[in-house]
Amino acid sequence: MDYEIIIGLETHIQLNTRSKIFCTCSTDFWGAAPNTHVCPVCMGLPGVLPVLNRAAVEKAMRLALAIGAEVQPVSYFARKNYFYPDLPKGYQITQYDMPLALGGALTIPLDDGRTRTVRIRKLHVEEDAGKTKREHGRRLIDFNRCGVPLIEMVTEPDLRSPDEAAQYLYRLRQLVRWLGISEGDMEKGHLRADANVSIRPKGATYLNPKTEIKNVNSIDDLRDAIAKEVERQIRLMEQGKPVEPWTLEWDEHAGVLRKMRSKETEADYRYFREPDLLPLEVDEAWLARVRAAIPELPLARRARFVSEYGLGLADADLLTSERALADYFEATVRAYRGDARRVANWVLNDVRRLLNEARLSPEELRLTPERLAALLRLLDEGVINTPTAKRLIPRVHAEDQDPDAIVQAEGLAQVRDTDTLRAMCEALVAAHPKEVARYRAGKKGLMGWFVGQIMRQTRGKADPKEVQRILRELLEA
Ligand code: ADP
Ligand code: ZN
Ligand code: MG
Repeated sequence: MDYEIIIGLETHIQLNTRSKIFCTCSTDFWGAAPNTHVCPVCMGLPGVLPVLNRAAVEKAMRLALAIGAEVQPVSYFARKNYFYPDLPKGYQITQYDMPLALGGALTIPLDDGRTRTVRIRKLHVEEDAGKTKREHGRRLIDFNRCGVPLIEMVTEPDLRSPDEAAQYLYRLRQLVRWLGISEGDMEKGHLRADANVSIRPKGATYLNPKTEIKNVNSIDDLRDAIAKEVERQIRLMEQGKPVEPWTLEWDEHAGVLRKMRSKETEADYRYFREPDLLPLEVDEAWLARVRAAIPELPLARRARFVSEYGLGLADADLLTSERALADYFEATVRAYRGDARRVANWVLNDVRRLLNEARLSPEELRLTPERLAALLRLLDEGVINTPTAKRLIPRVHAEDQDPDAIVQAEGLAQVRDTDTLRAMCEALVAAHPKEVARYRAGKKGLMGWFVGQIMRQTRGKADPKEVQRILRELLEA
């Protein structure tokens, strides 16, 4: 039998606010000693009161607006009660029946050129819990992460394969970074996805019971974990056994899923309105201000790079992988005023290599868009040749100098004086009669050797095409 795979994702996105969602503790605790970024509020001591961080709400509004969700004029916080050591209050402050935003969709491109529109059910803000770990047979708790703001975003069951789920997560990460609301680093837990998975016979319209996969920490793991779970469900179905609504935990080291628990029901959480916080009100003016600050989104910009600059889709996709890179590319195009595809090639090859090697973001490059444009103009005008241009890319950054300054100071300009080159070529031919004879006898591959000699004598500054033209004249005379 043919099966259809049904997947819905629940993602948690850690917002990059400076302070926590209900207190003024700093969120900058990566690498800090445990329990050094805590206060009575986020430790849940009796008698304290939470105060909502406006920046967290605003960042969540940005994402809501970017996916076309309806930001609610009034939403409420709720207490989700459960007992776990990393949750000192005994409840998590979250949103429940009246979340910040409803609806919207994230449209993701698929490999075959189609797109998939994944409807969003809801988006809300909540606080994160702490972390526990086992060490020498003891259970240790770090509360630093308690109260860090999160967005929870829940999709409808619209994804149809492990690859689509991976693509969704990739595009969501791209979007939250693009909007500047999260670092989106999965290894640091900034982006966490729980996958809900079921299968059904192809053509069916009902939904079968699902399982929920937790603890996936990378996009590849999400794809692998879902694929494993689909195999398991198909085996069960073929044996006529039911799929039970378990919660499964992905073991990234073993690459296997383990049953964590039977699914808890909503009633287990005894949700009720958070009495210590006012309703969250978002008025039109606030909404309009946030909406006005939303930049052109990644896929729209990708499409524009294709139509406006004539780039291939793959190049446009790479250039829009990060907003800063897209900005860098466009600023260079504007400064250069030449062929944008040429700029794209240089940015995607030489500039990106420099970024990767130096682990820099495009804003940190001292090879600014203006300097890259100037370098490309030197190349176009024939002042330097391509190998020199490639060598200049890391040097302009390292030395923080304009390319023409380096070219002048070091005499890197091409030897373009044809008389000089001709004299050098004549001397070379005269000095190597054996090679000349072999060339004339048909060993045309020697041309490379002759050109190489001249390039060496000029320390790479000759225009290789011009050298070849002169040599051919001399050798074939
Ligand atoms: P529950 O609360 O019972 O876990 P929800 O209806 O709240 O289920 O949905 C949670 C997530 O699971 C959503 O992302 C939703 O799209 C997805 N989902 C719901 N039903 C299914 C199903 N049968 N197969 C796959 N995903 C599903
Ligand atoms: Zn605190
Ligand atoms: Mg639910």
